[in-house]
Amino acid sequence: MSKRIVIVGGGYVGLYAALRLQQRLRSGEAQVTVVNPENFMVYRPLLPEVASGTLEPRHAVVPLRAVLSGTRFVAGRLTGVDTQRRVASVAPEAGPELELEYDELVLGVGAMSKLLPIPGLADCGIGFNSLAEAVHLRDHVLRQLEIASATNDPELRRCALTFVFVGGGYTGVEALAELQDMAVDVLEGYPELDVSEMRWVLVEAMDRILTTVSEDLAERAVSELRARGIDVRLSTQLESAEGGLVRLNDGDSFRASTLVWVAGTKPPPLVKELGLPTDQRGRIIVDETMRVEGHPDIWAAGDCAAVPDLENGGVCPPTAQYAVRQARRLGDNLAERLRGGELRPFHYKSKGEFVTLGMNKAVGEMLGRKVHGRLAWAARRAYYATQIPTWNRTIRVLGDWLVGMPFGHDVVNLDSREEPRGAFQEAAGRRG
Ligand SMILES: Cc1cc2nc3c(=O)[nH]c(=O)nc-3n(C[C@H](O)[C@H](O)[C@H](O)COP(=O)(O)OP(=O)(O)OC[C@H]3O[C@@H](n4cnc5c(N)ncnc54)[C@H](O)[C@@H]3O)c2cc1C
Repeated sequence: MSKRIVIVGGGYVGLYAALRLQQRLRSGEAQVTVVNPENFMVYRPLLPEVASGTLEPRHAVVPLRAVLSGTRFVAGRLTGVDTQRRVASVAPEAGPELELEYDELVLGVGAMSKLLPIPGLADCGIGFNSLAEAVHLRDHVLRQLEIASATNDPELRRCALTFVFVGGGYTGVEALAELQDMAVDVLEGYPELDVSEMRWVLVEAMDRILTTVSEDLAERAVSELRARGIDVRLSTQLESAEGGLVRLNDGDSFRASTLVWVAGTKPPPLVKELGLPTDQRGRIIVDETMRVEGHPDIWAAGDCAAVPDLENGGVCPPTAQYAVRQARRLGDNLAERLRGGELRPFHYKSKGEFVTLGMNKAVGEMLGRKVHGRLAWAARRAYYATQIPTWNRTIRVLGDWLVGMPFGHDVVNLDSREEPRGAFQEAAGRRG
């Protein structure tokens, strides 16, 4: 009988493991099912450019149904696993729960923002992990420029033009740098505003940013950001944000209409509820072949798993470049397991990393070589354009970038789409 492989999560791990199985499995050898709440995979390293509008949101995602031919796709969320009966419970968007029986289960549910108990943070902050957050932030920043340019209240104007990002990892740095670049670029359309009125603050608890690149590159990034007027506060922590009043532990406090929390991620709470072994950070403990400790038919990889790093010791970092390679090895190991073959450990040595700092600006390391400026920026773009699955996406991404070069950032703010029924409700006399 054909084996049933259920893959939970349609991100890097889910997509690339399923693609590998599509290549490796013979017809009728196994039925592969991918479960994901949305019918697309988010290409997360491109989110900062979605936020700055240099990429259309739809072009930074991969349609799962289009690329996973021969694989069953279920739009839904895993809610539990019965390891005795080998059943995964899945809640679809509507209707009763589904029970998916499996012979092999793969967990690649990623990570979400990890909040600290800081007063006001949950009410005033926003993360930068999802497509929705990236799209919202772009519209939100443009909206603040409109608010500041329209008001004659100096306090409101100052608050609208203050943007605070907490967390100096690549997510925080890229998001802030791209958004600030966009704001400066579009400001010429706002004669009422001056660039010196905008206040962009990056708050980092450690004494450096970008711990995944070498120290001199991180320092270069700090100098570049400071030269652009960005207030980089190292060895500083957010103490509270009640009512939008940001208080830092260096004694400073000010009102800000934008507070982006990018100071760490954690696996979704569901992971803990599954009863599988987890480490102190809540990641599923797996061996070097990515099988879950004590459960030979369950596998986990990516940001939700503690995959041993055989090259550097410890656990693999939560990055896309690791998740993709883990997924491919996991797919190979699954195929071997079905055929009684030998499982092989995951080995990978990072080839480098790039951090975008806005249009024509980046820092990075490539095959041991440090690069910065336009070269790093172009290399980063070339890398992602060729890595995103399908020509369809590559061409759309390249098209967006090409159009953006002569025309710059677009100032259109579409945040009304967050309330699409507003006009209809007004027409019905239900709101003023
Ligand atoms: C803004 C940003 C920029 C980044 N930039 C880089 C970069 O430049 N380079 C780099 O290497 N890495 C980068 N990363 C990190 C990289 O994106 C992650 O390491 C990678 O996405 C991890 O892959 P994953 O498959 O584990 O998780 P994800 O890709 O996050 O996929 C997890 C999937 O599981 C789904 N899911 C969650 N819960 C459930 C459930 N209960 N049931 C079903 N499905 C579920 C989610 O909806 C999601 O689709 C960046 C991340 C972010 C947020």
